[in-house]
Amino acid sequence: MAILVTNDDGIFAPGLWVLAKELKSVASLVVAAPDREQSATGTAITLRQPLRVQRVPPIMPDVDTYSVEGTPSDSTILALGKLTKNRVDMVISGINKGLNLGDDILLSGTVGAALQGYLRGLQSIAISIASADSHYLDNAAKLAALLAGKILAGTLPMDMFLNINLPDLPLNEIKGLKLTQPAHKTHIDTVEEGHDGRREYYWLVRQKLGTNIDKDTDIGTLEQGNISITALHTTWFQKPTLGITNSLCSDLFRELQRIG
Ligand code: MN
Repeated sequence: MAILVTNDDGIFAPGLWVLAKELKSVASLVVAAPDREQSATGTAITLRQPLRVQRVPPIMPDVDTYSVEGTPSDSTILALGKLTKNRVDMVISGINKGLNLGDDILLSGTVGAALQGYLRGLQSIAISIASADSHYLDNAAKLAALLAGKILAGTLPMDMFLNINLPDLPLNEIKGLKLTQPAHKTHIDTVEEGHDGRREYYWLVRQKLGTNIDKDTDIGTLEQGNISITALHTTWFQKPTLGITNSLCSDLFRELQRIG
């Protein structure tokens, strides 16, 4: 069994390697990720210039590692279409520094990279953790490994595309793990203008949307101190929820607490 590990924060982002270290216990790995941060590139792919790939010395033993001069989606497409010689069973994208929730998942390069795996018939997971500092990456990595182990062992359905978000908290401060729907909320994009001495410039500035978030949505669930799992295969592709149920979420959380 093999997992492609990717992200949108770039090949040297700590979250990618904390994830890879944990996934190594359940499958062989290949890592292919953008050569620089590509957050908020969504599902973008590169069609108007060639893609260049650097094979970098493995950061982990026995893990082929590729740095891609392209978007997160490019990385997944290239890895699955060309770089990997052996069969890949899953794509796991993350651990993103910062949450990917609500309508903003459409902008997420982390989710975009996982989507390319799902569109190619693979089990795919995007996983993100609150805050740019991300002190508790281990929780996310262990949860990803737990799920990957179950999927690869065939104890979960074989048609899943999951978006997982965790609070950046010690495990004993996390309340639970809930199955959610994406909130129909996003940030408000405002445009700030400045002048650099030669030309005017603009910054898109994201401001958080206010309150009144349904507590059963991904945003509401996170705000209450839970881990959120959204089954995007049901949300975006209108497929049945299959084996992803609330009781599975509770069981997973108990297992995570046991191993955390
Ligand atoms: Mn990112």
